Amino acid sequence: MINPAKRTNSIELSEIRKLFEVTNPDAINLGIGEPDFDVPENIKEAMKKSIDENETHYTSNKGIIELREEIVKKFKKDNGIKTNPENIIVTVGASEGLFMCAQAFIEKGDEVILPNPSFLSYEACINLAGGTVVPVDCKMENEFKLKADDVAEKITENTKAIMLNSPSNPTGAVMEKEDIKALADLSMDKDILIISDEIYEKIIYNKKHYSAGKYSDNVITLNGFSKTYAMTGLRIGYLNANETYNEELLKIHQYNNACASTTSQRGAYEALTGPQNEVERMIKEFQRRRDLIVSRLNQMGYETVNAEGAFYVFPKIDDEDFVAKAANAGVISVPGVAFGSNGKGHVRMSYANSYENIEKAMNILEERVVNG
Ligand code: PMP
Repeated sequence: MINPAKRTNSIELSEIRKLFEVTNPDAINLGIGEPDFDVPENIKEAMKKSIDENETHYTSNKGIIELREEIVKKFKKDNGIKTNPENIIVTVGASEGLFMCAQAFIEKGDEVILPNPSFLSYEACINLAGGTVVPVDCKMENEFKLKADDVAEKITENTKAIMLNSPSNPTGAVMEKEDIKALADLSMDKDILIISDEIYEKIIYNKKHYSAGKYSDNVITLNGFSKTYAMTGLRIGYLNANETYNEELLKIHQYNNACASTTSQRGAYEALTGPQNEVERMIKEFQRRRDLIVSRLNQMGYETVNAEGAFYVFPKIDDEDFVAKAANAGVISVPGVAFGSNGKGHVRMSYANSYENIEKAMNILEERVVNG
């Protein structure tokens, strides 16, 4: 038996993935973290065409220039971030961008401030890089929004980076402009890197998204096509980082992946330049489901924040056996503690499932778990 490297021993396989592998296929899955919609037709057509035209070779490491130019326009229009194609790297999902940031900037002795609860990959990537996670509670009384003052309290001389994720997985919380701006200012004053994962930026309801990268040059902005365009399996994302940071990130990307899939890059180009009506339709539908799930959970007595973004709710459910009881009754959800200690006493439910299924799932919970 060959011993694995210590760094792989320091992390575990995702509990959420394991959960999907063992549960009953007939259950209604509110555990999943991907849109239930299909990739819009125009994007599929663009990818098919690129294959027919034999565009199946490597691209430049940073990605095709047309796509990077569109990403630059998108950053300016949506995020108020002024950049240029040299600062953009097209990645294999936002996941790769995250991994690149950790590998390029974090090492032993570095502290990285993380929202608690947060997306599982953050902690794993930081641990793999040898860094230390410093969690900051996102309090329910603040609707789980990360507050700049709470972050500021955790800063030490070893703080290397702050991870932001707004809208958030797992809570759906959207940070306030004043907190984003305050943290961006702090990143400049104290020379701390902000890694801002904005993958859910478009899945937001009657609320404006703000990007830390607009206010500070010490920000790496991560984004991707998985959520907005339902392109999860196509593995395509991107990041923006200034020249100095970009070169370090490119080293990791170059030796790890060379480039993102050519076909997916063509799809991504179409996603940004083509009609956006499918995106608008998805967001409207997500909002309708959010309204349904929040009101049903509140009616059942599970206090639930009317989350302003992403496709998750994070009800307060003290019953430690809830997830198991719900799974037995036919509804899959994820224990909040899987996302950090502050998720204890909560359950993550995704509404990336049909309105009808969510209705059925809520009926099952009401009949068999709450009143059962
Ligand atoms: N960040 C967050 C907060 C996510 O929820 C996810 C997907 N679950 C990702 C990043 C990864 O996205 P991608 O498919 O682009 O790698």
